Amino acid sequence: MAPVQISEVKGNSREHRTATHTHIKGLGLRPDGTAERNAAGFVGQAAAREACGVIVDLIRAKKMSGRAVLLAGGPGTGKTALALAVSQELGTKVPFCPIVGSEIYSAEVKKTEALMENFRRAIGLRVRETKEVYEGEVTELSPEEAENPLGGYGRTISHLLITLKAARGTKKLRLDPSIYEAIQKERVRLGDVIYIEANTGAVKRVGRSDAYATEFDLEAEEYVPVPKGEVHKKKEIVQDVTLHDLDVANARPQGGQDVMSMMGQLMKPKKTEVTEKLRMEINKVVNKYIDQGVAELVPGVLFIDEVHMLDLEAFTFLTRALESPISPIVILASNRGLTPIRGASDTLPPSAHGIPPDLLARLLIIPTHPYGPEEIRAIVRARARTEGISISEPALEAVGELGVQRSLRYALQLLTPASVLARVGGKMNAEVGVDEVTEATGLFLDAARSVGALGESVSGYIS
Ligand code: ATP
Repeated sequence: MAPVQISEVKGNSREHRTATHTHIKGLGLRPDGTAERNAAGFVGQAAAREACGVIVDLIRAKKMSGRAVLLAGGPGTGKTALALAVSQELGTKVPFCPIVGSEIYSAEVKKTEALMENFRRAIGLRVRETKEVYEGEVTELSPEEAENPLGGYGRTISHLLITLKAARGTKKLRLDPSIYEAIQKERVRLGDVIYIEANTGAVKRVGRSDAYATEFDLEAEEYVPVPKGEVHKKKEIVQDVTLHDLDVANARPQGGQDVMSMMGQLMKPKKTEVTEKLRMEINKVVNKYIDQGVAELVPGVLFIDEVHMLDLEAFTFLTRALESPISPIVILASNRGLTPIRGASDTLPPSAHGIPPDLLARLLIIPTHPYGPEEIRAIVRARARTEGISISEPALEAVGELGVQRSLRYALQLLTPASVLARVGGKMNAEVGVDEVTEATGLFLDAARSVGALGESVSGYIS
């Protein structure tokens, strides 16, 4: 056996972008498609949620090709949250790729190239492979040392010994030391249930054994005890990657990842950047695997916020890309009304949301509306719970009031500073009270007050 070190495929979601939406778990709709007032982390915005539910149905019925969605409404009315929820409704491993219109402009990368890259980040590929694996509970894990062959001091590790115990037998494996890294990466310890792929040496930890579960209580959620099977068996392995992952892996081949190495067999090595040609080659291989039934496409959601920042060239690209047989669901968002189209001649009249009329005609437009005080309080409450912030009822009222008076975003942003103040102040259980909310409001300006403050003290700034 020649073990190969396997590295983990990077996840689909860019977490920092979605961190403010971790309380959102879906659209929160009833089976008949109507919205619960408060479900799946979503509060209010019922009509938009129901419309998004219809979009999910259209996507499932494959009736969205060539079309896209536009969420139109003021800042902080949940447009990003709705787009994320659509991707969640489509399935757990469905890619969600959020970008902001202005992001495509850079000195290094052409804007259409930047758009294409994000398109491919939003298209998933699920690969099912049947592999021979050794699976069982680790009862022994130790390096086997040998004399240093170069005659130097000390010993080197010649092999790694692993004993796997399963319900149907015990197996001692002598593995190449290169597998050590894979073992460390998976943080394998005695008592873990792991599997090792027979051909590649890829290691995957699939659970903690029952006997050790209590010891790792803190991490218990992460480690689901699994029944130990046979020591050696065929196992179906499902890998989720995005087309962008494949582009990158094949542009800079390092060997390793199983899907990648499978794809890599057909690709020539030594490529250094993702080119149109490479993408076409990848598409060809992907199509072949789809035809063979080894892989299936998982179209995800590409969310483009502040869509008025795109220019005519980008809109043209977008319109064309929507028609491609492999396209993600594109959800655009805008908080603008009539706006000039960027990159269009000055003689052209402003267009709704700065979007060219021909693209606008292909959009299913869903409006979002500002929240009332009760909804704002419920959103703030959901957010506090997700962030693990304990907050008193009067303080919650105060934050809710700020959401109404200033903005929802400002209210949500104050939660963390207020909880830091509560902790620093040595409050019992670090519970945020009205005092901390007031103090945080004094420390941080909201957008409107910031503009006001600038107006008052212009002389203090360089202009
Ligand atoms: P912008 O126009 O500034 O991009 P947006 O319309 O995309 O804003 P979001 O970022 O989705 O607004 O919402 C702001 C915050 O409020 C996020 O943390 C979001 O998860 C939360 N939020 C918005 N609407 C709801 C809702 N109806 N239920 C629960 N949480 C919500």
